[in-house]
Amino acid sequence: MENFTYYNPTKLIFGKGQLDKLPKEVDQYGRKVLLVYGGGSIKRNGIFDNVFEKLKEIDANIFELGGVEPNPRISTVRKGVEICKQEGIEFLLAIGGGSTIDCTKAIAAGAKTDIDMWDIVTKKAHATDALPFGTVLTLAATGSEMNRGSVITNWETNEKHGWGSPYTSPKFSILDPTHTFSVPRDQTIYGMVDMMSHVLEHYFHQADNTPIQDRFCESVLLTVMETAPKLLQDLENYDYRETIMLSGTLALNDMLSMGFRGDWATHNLEHAVSAVHDIPHGGGLAIIFPNWMKHVLDDDNASRFKQLAVRVFNVDPIGKTEREIALEGIDKLREFWNSIGAPSKFADYAINESSIEEMADKTVIARPAYGNFKQLTRQDSVEIFRASL
Ligand code: NAP
Ligand code: FE
Repeated sequence: MENFTYYNPTKLIFGKGQLDKLPKEVDQYGRKVLLVYGGGSIKRNGIFDNVFEKLKEIDANIFELGGVEPNPRISTVRKGVEICKQEGIEFLLAIGGGSTIDCTKAIAAGAKTDIDMWDIVTKKAHATDALPFGTVLTLAATGSEMNRGSVITNWETNEKHGWGSPYTSPKFSILDPTHTFSVPRDQTIYGMVDMMSHVLEHYFHQADNTPIQDRFCESVLLTVMETAPKLLQDLENYDYRETIMLSGTLALNDMLSMGFRGDWATHNLEHAVSAVHDIPHGGGLAIIFPNWMKHVLDDDNASRFKQLAVRVFNVDPIGKTEREIALEGIDKLREFWNSIGAPSKFADYAINESSIEEMADKTVIARPAYGNFKQLTRQDSVEIFRASL
């Protein structure tokens, strides 16, 4: 493996009733608090009222920015930055899923600079500081609650990019599995696909000697696959929600990828699709991931696919070539996602041939080649998108 330094400063506060710890955590940073949330699910399920009550215990001066979109937009980030600057906000609290948290990260960084946040998202400039922020997670999916990354969309230019900085790790994240009871079936599925995709992006790396990391990744994949069908039969089951919530965090808090860099080509491809069609992130990943796998599989890297197929998808290797085993594993991944009701082709979102070229352009805006396990170019994007129709 490669040399590495591991540092994750987010305090993870996990379990039923842990919202009780919110006032004390917030009070360390300031009482002028901006609550950031999405389209209203937290008002319907009571989480907003509970947070409000908790913050009253410290006489917090509460401001609100609601309406953060799934695939959060730079226009909403700018709105938030303006509120922070105008009101002298001291602390931000994201209540929601990855979109709300990612938006909050961008607002937090934008509040401390005069540079427009889109320039920072597109890496023309860098964040140099950020307001402190915490999260109350309501959807298990992205891992954004315990990492520094953020993904922001610009609807004027149809671009969606990931960015991050040393200043954009949450100070704390409160994860109460009961907060995810009301997540609808489709979002629950997308979330599980997203966390599995994060693990798979780690898994396809070029470093050698990573036995412990491989086993960690395989264990998260197997756990999500074991739990997913049970959870989908029983959406308010505490134990299943708890398992999935912790899996989502572990999948992308850098613990599984110590000593190597994964691939992330599939995320790049999916961001290009969402930037043009505004589809759910996990839905796009379910369509693209197996097609990326088939596209990059070759004789030099087949052993990695074989290991995944045998250890995670229970493929019987006897009498088969490495390539056959690899392909069977990829088919089993597709079958599993189909079995839980994830989409499998662009047609499921009414995306057709006509936008392939535009989406392919988006995959290479930031750089002409992408992917670490195997480098891909615009032409590869076109081929993977075609295979996804
Ligand atoms: P999301 O976009 O935050 O939320 C999806 C939907 O779920 C929203 O409509 C939301 O409704 C609803 N929802 C959330 N919690 C709910 C609850 N408890 N009950 C009922 N409905 C609930 O979904 P996400 O998958 O967490 O985030 C996706 C975004 O994160 C994408 O932009 C993706 O690119 C990005 N992402 C980020 C990272 C990272 O590391 N930062 C990694 C992967 C993906 P309301 O809006 O009404 O609340
Ligand atoms: Fe993701």
